[in-house]
Amino acid sequence: MSTPVTVLEGCTVVTMDGQGSEYASGHVVVTGNVITAVGPGSPPPASLEASATAGAVRRIDVSGCLATPGLINTHHHLYQWGTRGMAADATLFEWLTQLYPVWARMDTGIVEVQATAALAWLAKTGCSTTMDHHYVFPKSGGDLLGATVAAARRVGVRFHPTRGSMDLGESSGGLPPDDVVEDRDAILLASKAAIEEFHDDSPDSMLRVGLAPCSPFSVTGELLAEAAELARGAGVRLHTHLAETADEDRYCAEHFGCTPVEYLDSLGWLGDDVWLAHGVHLDDGAIARLAATGTGVAHCPSSNGRLGAGVCRTHDLVAAGVRVGLGVDGAASSEECSLIGEVRQATLTARAAGGPHAMSVRGALELATMGGARLLGRDEEIGSLEAGKLADIALWRLDTLPHAGIADPVAALVLGARPPLELLLVNGKMIVERDRLVTVDEREVAANSARAAMAMHRIVGQ
Ligand SMILES: [Zn+2]
Repeated sequence: MSTPVTVLEGCTVVTMDGQGSEYASGHVVVTGNVITAVGPGSPPPASLEASATAGAVRRIDVSGCLATPGLINTHHHLYQWGTRGMAADATLFEWLTQLYPVWARMDTGIVEVQATAALAWLAKTGCSTTMDHHYVFPKSGGDLLGATVAAARRVGVRFHPTRGSMDLGESSGGLPPDDVVEDRDAILLASKAAIEEFHDDSPDSMLRVGLAPCSPFSVTGELLAEAAELARGAGVRLHTHLAETADEDRYCAEHFGCTPVEYLDSLGWLGDDVWLAHGVHLDDGAIARLAATGTGVAHCPSSNGRLGAGVCRTHDLVAAGVRVGLGVDGAASSEECSLIGEVRQATLTARAAGGPHAMSVRGALELATMGGARLLGRDEEIGSLEAGKLADIALWRLDTLPHAGIADPVAALVLGARPPLELLLVNGKMIVERDRLVTVDEREVAANSARAAMAMHRIVGQ
């Protein structure tokens, strides 16, 4: 059986490898699902001879385009796609209390439709790998995690779903109403089942599961500790929301007598297998502790701005050696949910807070590529364009009106308008071509999503 070979040539190549290699005009050769050559000019004849014996060669002239690694999203809630635009001017706690009752009515049909839409849009914004944090499991909702997995298979993105959870209802001092929380034993059983059913730890895996109790104000310390034990026994990663708002700081001071980071530390929840969403309210001591333990942070600047949560100290985190990736978060707290948009937002937010040198355009792109790969434990496999890595590649068209003539292609991509996505390859397969989704019908996905969203709007009488 022959292995298909694709040669992308004539494009600018920004590899994001350890040396920062960039080629004004270069090539990327893909054999099957692996990158087999990257470099300047045309592909060396030797690489094509080897390719010719491997199978049929498809050469694509992509001059006028910029090749980057496919972008990696490290924080999201796909199910929220149908509740975008609600509680539009609220704080995090106000927003959550308005939305919990709506989310309590979700079922597999709604989640699969909304996850498909959210994933399709992520792909159109250059995302080849995404995590999902699903933490609301209504009693009669069905297999919601399975619904997100089905959506990811359909769209074709590399998927890292986390089995989220909440077990601290209002009557026990938590924020969520009692009817959206689950019993701790049921959560642990479902988490174990999700790992057994879906987790694939092979090097070219398209599906890896993690565990993600929701936040200090919606889960018990017992659940956090037991989830960590379960995850570590099974060799999967841990994720949660942390240090997002000043309200959360106050909650932790009142209930635990410490900061959010000290609280997680006391439960064995810091380590290189853990990444935390937000990390906005961190003092110098907390940043040093995250760096020392190898704990990662998923920076979500649009969501932090939308909810007025504060400004993440990205520059200080990176300078201290904390591993940082980017997340679109949302979808209901960040209606845009564009990953390339988040790269731009991260750059501008860091500079607005910390001055012009707080985040370079290449530094921001690094967060969305190798930074994300490190948080997901995939830095050997994805995050840069290098021979031997998996073929997750974004090709951005930079020769049209908004970008033609911009001197630096990375500045054009990061600071300019969102360019048309000429191609998105995931695991060597074409997901987007000429800014059009190949795997799903975009109009049909949008129409289905709007219908499901209307059903959710009716729940709150909007
Ligand atoms: Zn979130």
